[in-house]
Amino acid sequence: MPELPEVEIVRKALELQIVDKTIKSIDVFYPKIIRTPTDVQAFKWLLEGQTVQSVARKGKYLLLHMNQVTLVSHLRMEGKYIFSEDEGTIVDKHTHIVFHFTDGTLLQYKDVRKFGTMDAVPKGAEKELQALRKLGQEPIDPNFDVEMFSSLVKSKLAPIKQILLNQEIVSGLGNIYVDETLALSKLHPLRKGHSLTDEEIQRIIVSMKKVLVKAIQQGGSTIRSYESFYGKGSMQEHFTVYGRTGQPCQTCGMQIEKIKVGGRGTHFCPACQKEDF
Ligand SMILES: [Zn+2]
Repeated sequence: MPELPEVEIVRKALELQIVDKTIKSIDVFYPKIIRTPTDVQAFKWLLEGQTVQSVARKGKYLLLHMNQVTLVSHLRMEGKYIFSEDEGTIVDKHTHIVFHFTDGTLLQYKDVRKFGTMDAVPKGAEKELQALRKLGQEPIDPNFDVEMFSSLVKSKLAPIKQILLNQEIVSGLGNIYVDETLALSKLHPLRKGHSLTDEEIQRIIVSMKKVLVKAIQQGGSTIRSYESFYGKGSMQEHFTVYGRTGQPCQTCGMQIEKIKVGGRGTHFCPACQKEDF
């Protein structure tokens, strides 16, 4: 599942590919991807004739800002955008939506699992969308509010692993980067939010940023089904714990363990991330 770094890679690519392009027409082969407006014809009417002005991102959401409309897109498990120069491009059974631009180029939305969503709303109204309104701050935001994050974490009885996965507390981290963040912070994933000290929370904040910035620099991670559409990311080669069950810890040599926390596979080093609580 794409997390913040992978969505950021997609955002950067889309920015280069579709800014200043005007939508001529849209094919919708699988209407369920579209949540807003509920009527497919209304979705087309809203977007046709609109010119893409910028491509932004909030958490794991892509925001395509046009003259009067913003298209909010979430890739969920396996959503992908494929840009092509000409109409001869092969559209297959996983292509659910095609945006045709006036210059003859096109953008396909493909999604094997079909869990992705799109909401087209009048520009500015995206802030009112339930999903975006509830999103927590991003670790890489230069204005990250340490006090707010700290008090949220300390108010929780849940394990820190679950807290960091909660998009309402901090947005953009998924299973991979939470495991990597906790490894870098040297904190056990089962540590309860309220048990963490200010110094430990500070370590988490620094680690989240480091992990995400490095992942973006590496072009994201390429694991199993997910692959950014313009080249493979290489962050997976730099994982310290994720997907390394049974392998030696790079710091102390102890075997990396895997447990379940809140139903999610969780990787950690039992020596470097001691359960001292
Ligand atoms: Zn270790």
